[in-house]
Amino acid sequence: MRELKERILKDGQALNEAVLKVDSFINHQVDPNLMENIGKTFADKFADDGVTKVVTIESSGIAPSVFTAKAMNVNLVILKKSTSKILEDNISQTEVASYTKGTEYQLTLNKKYINRNDRVLIIDDFLARGEAAQGAIRLIEAQGAEVVGVGILIEKAFQSGNKALRDKGYTVCSLARIKNLSDGHIEFLED
Ligand code: 5GP
Repeated sequence: MRELKERILKDGQALNEAVLKVDSFINHQVDPNLMENIGKTFADKFADDGVTKVVTIESSGIAPSVFTAKAMNVNLVILKKSTSKILEDNISQTEVASYTKGTEYQLTLNKKYINRNDRVLIIDDFLARGEAAQGAIRLIEAQGAEVVGVGILIEKAFQSGNKALRDKGYTVCSLARIKNLSDGHIEFLED
């Protein structure tokens, strides 16, 4: 997606050769116009897949996912990274390794929000090793629902996530695929 790539080049910052910072338009401050266009792009790409729910992981996936769900006219389910007293009942959990924090967390779903008739589109901001996406897939499939695809804003194509998902048969749609982040430069793979 040209608009996203141009914005990454303008405002993204390669923190080191493995991590990209996009705090000024995705992760901390959010550009709603860009998020809306991202939502419409995902809705177009998955228009023929009979999607009944969009699922994301809190918190950075929420903004683009709201617009995706709105454009597809379906509900959005936000998987939680921690439980609270309000969430205690009827939950399903799976352990996920956090790429940025280097710790583990319990990805959590209230089971009433996904059922076996659902066809789910997963949306997340980044794809690195694919741990978050695979955790989401485990929770969704445990409900008997089908994952029709994984939509990613920024894929670091030099890391293993895309291959891990494709090897298991999942469709991955990344709007910007980064080939290289070394020396502070951001280089994309050709479309
Ligand atoms: P994965 O689970 O695919 O290994 O990592 C994806 C998750 O880690 C995303 O949900 C995202 O929050 C975070 N992440 C991975 N790489 C980056 C990065 O380069 N920059 C930022 N801001 N977040 C990242």
